[in-house]
Amino acid sequence: MADSIYTIPINEIFEPKKGCPICAIRDTLEQRCVEYIMGAAMMEPDVRIETNRLGFCKDHLGMMLAQRNRLSLALTLQTHLDEIRKNVLNGKREMFHKGGKAKSISKINSTCYVCNKIDGALAELLDTMFRLYERDEDFKALYGEQEALCLPHYELVCSLAPEKLSKKFLTSFLEDSTRLVTDYINTLYEDVSHFCKMFDYRNTGPEADWKNAKDSIERTAWFLTSYHPK
Ligand SMILES: [Zn+2]
Ligand SMILES: [Zn+2]
Repeated sequence: MADSIYTIPINEIFEPKKGCPICAIRDTLEQRCVEYIMGAAMMEPDVRIETNRLGFCKDHLGMMLAQRNRLSLALTLQTHLDEIRKNVLNGKREMFHKGGKAKSISKINSTCYVCNKIDGALAELLDTMFRLYERDEDFKALYGEQEALCLPHYELVCSLAPEKLSKKFLTSFLEDSTRLVTDYINTLYEDVSHFCKMFDYRNTGPEADWKNAKDSIERTAWFLTSYHPK
């Protein structure tokens, strides 16, 4: 049932060696979670209780709106609105008085069912990734052969590493990760610099070569935020 949709074979994510593998895990989880809420979850009262309680963030509401099934979304939002009406707003003006507790309103404004699910599933998958890094030499090599790590995921994996890896593997993991992020930022720097140069009057002719610079701004936005700009 529900939780099996968040099981992803780690090797399959790393094998293409394209982009940041942690972004790939996150994107897969995100897509599956959104599709699930809009489809099969309609038959799962437990999920509805959670979506009513946590709601959705701007990005994930946007992803759900982009799906075709408007009725699913309307039904999900209908009970969510009702929950806010009854349990958050109902007779609670005093929560904003001095010394009052506005916790329920600040909670509903800051939680998201999809973010919550993704964070939990990603943490479990990263546990598996660290285990593989220690126990499977082929995977350890594969990790070092990735095209990139984006900046937010570089921070994420490196800050988790000390508690997940033994000393023996920690050093090489931090070295591998730092090399991946550094190599990529160096390439990006070259591409963005070339992009800037292309605006020089000497580079306006038909023979002007953009090399890999054309999408360098978009790739930088992704590298800095872990999300491709829309
Ligand atoms: Zn990433
Ligand atoms: Zn969210």
